[in-house]
Amino acid sequence: MEIINRRQRMTSVARKLKREQDQTIGLVPTMGALHDGHLSLVREARRMCDIVVVSIFVNPTQFGPTEDFQNYPRDLTKDAARLTDYNVDYIFAPPPEEIYAKHFSTYVNVEGISDQLEGAARPGHFRGVATVVTILLNIIRPDFAFFGQKDAQQTLVIKRLVRDMALDTEVVVLPTVREKSGLALSSRNVYLNEDERDAATILHRALARAGTAYENGERTGQRLAEIVRSVIDEESLARLEYVSIADADTLEKLDKLDNRTVLVSLAARFGKTRLIDNIVLNPARQKTHPAIDS
Ligand code: AMP
Repeated sequence: MEIINRRQRMTSVARKLKREQDQTIGLVPTMGALHDGHLSLVREARRMCDIVVVSIFVNPTQFGPTEDFQNYPRDLTKDAARLTDYNVDYIFAPPPEEIYAKHFSTYVNVEGISDQLEGAARPGHFRGVATVVTILLNIIRPDFAFFGQKDAQQTLVIKRLVRDMALDTEVVVLPTVREKSGLALSSRNVYLNEDERDAATILHRALARAGTAYENGERTGQRLAEIVRSVIDEESLARLEYVSIADADTLEKLDKLDNRTVLVSLAARFGKTRLIDNIVLNPARQKTHPAIDS
């Protein structure tokens, strides 16, 4: 495994692997502080591709001015040790100036789908995400790029970006990995104290309750949102920011769900920590449970 810091080296390594050795490349973009959610993406990349590149880059442009960019957990040594166990070929860990050169002034904005939910709560967030993903895909030109359903809106933004800009990479989305408690793994979980960590399991229970109601025939968006809200209200440490019932591909807000595939997504705060989670409800499936489906 080689750790690459320079953009030029990453580009030349990737080009050589493809042109001279005809190898398929899988990219797993991350911000580091790796956990089993990230590693599930790495495992699938390893299974599908000849060469696996994991990028570790805490991307400044996707953080708002009052967000946790400075404090975001960073531990490249520990991350690299974990990735060695997974037989990763390259870690691409550039310093910010390798990605954002002097006088950088070109941003990618995926309109519409970036503006609601997380985009509304975090203005500019998806512009930062779409910009850095475009740069990473252009540097590495991977055949496949792997993302987690945990960040559901992000996967939709990236799929749209890749399609609209005709980028030559296939986007692979993999299920959310959870603790036994149901809490979705997240690098930000380290910010939670013990009480908040216990409290945060309410998110999964609330989504599961909506899933059960859906299985029992509930097809009204407003009703499902109320169910989620009422469960989370029971937890005094939780402050719900939003719950959304929307089309799982377009994020169009839905009330009559009919036969649509529905994304139930939410954001909530526990103390200073903001967490997101979601579940997908699909009429084709009788049983839906967030531990399996989201
Ligand atoms: P991050 O380092 O938070 O930017 O995440 C990097 C990638 O890992 C993104 O595609 C995330 O959606 C994915 N990811 C984060 N948490 C999980 C999880 N619990 N299960 C599956 N994928 C995840």
